[in-house]
Amino acid sequence: MHIVVTGASGFIGSHFCKKLIQEGHQVTGIDNFLTSSPKNIEDLLGENFTFIKYDVTQFVHVPGRVDGIVHLASPASPVDYLKHPIHTLKVGSLGTFHLLGLAKEKKARFLLASTSEIYGDPLVHPQIESYWGNVNPVGVRGVYDEAKRFGEAMAMAYKRTHGLDIKIVRIFNTYGPKMRINDGRVVTNFINQALLGENLTIYGTGKQTRSFCYVSDLVNGLYKLLLSEHQGPMNLGNPNEMTVMDLAKIIVKLTESSSKTVFHPLPEDDPKERKPDISLAKSVLNWEPVIPLEEGLTKTIPWIKNQIQNQTDPQKVSVQ
Ligand code: UDP
Repeated sequence: MHIVVTGASGFIGSHFCKKLIQEGHQVTGIDNFLTSSPKNIEDLLGENFTFIKYDVTQFVHVPGRVDGIVHLASPASPVDYLKHPIHTLKVGSLGTFHLLGLAKEKKARFLLASTSEIYGDPLVHPQIESYWGNVNPVGVRGVYDEAKRFGEAMAMAYKRTHGLDIKIVRIFNTYGPKMRINDGRVVTNFINQALLGENLTIYGTGKQTRSFCYVSDLVNGLYKLLLSEHQGPMNLGNPNEMTVMDLAKIIVKLTESSSKTVFHPLPEDDPKERKPDISLAKSVLNWEPVIPLEEGLTKTIPWIKNQIQNQTDPQKVSVQ
């Protein structure tokens, strides 16, 4: 197939493009590098991978046959979308609109990257696809949550109105090599801090929970979903839930660090607990994560170590 992937040079995008190429597909990657690095796709450029530097909040045209469109582009870390609130809203709304238009023109299947954030600070636990969520539309996180909710609504409208083949993946916390070390996320911050011997910054009490999925598991799920006949939303994530404090302890142990923890204020509207119900993915895709947390972190730590060593500007290493 010829697949167009937006956000191609991002963390998940670059892993996903690699998977598509390995599976024998032709890929056109699009990215504007707002929160991603061209380095992530350096090894992909070649016969089966074309790259276009472009901002999909503008009208999108791709020549020739297109069989599938995967819209991953968006700032996705809280630090990033708080820094780029309007662009986050635009890529989730206008970007999704342009790519749905392209899917309609090309009669291509469409996979929208949505997020566990559409459940907000959830009142149902674990989160199942039928739950409508608890989102603060005017809070600082609303720019991401509502953009993704709007994107889901628009994708479903295109399905109902134009009969498009629509898959929506609600991605839960994912980690692995190629994350930006200063993306402000908990896994990158903690590994970075542990390796540098700094205190690990626990926001709030550290009793809030998350469930972390290694990127290769996520990418395998995305691929299966793209190829499936499934329509509408599906959670993909690892149901192995833990507190942020327990994550800190595991990372200190794995890095053999002498770092301690320090408490910082909890960011506004930070969800108290999060865990995907993945029964749908299990039954429809026969998919579930296979990489345990310690193994995934052990694969991620050398990447962060390498990034720290390659930093020329020491300012860039410091985390938010
Ligand atoms: N967090 C933390 N210390 C950090 C970064 C994040 O305690 O240095 C917490 C954050 O408040 C949240 C959880 O870790 O409760 C996950 O944060 P992240 O930004 O990775 O993703 P989120 O799940 O909030 O989108």
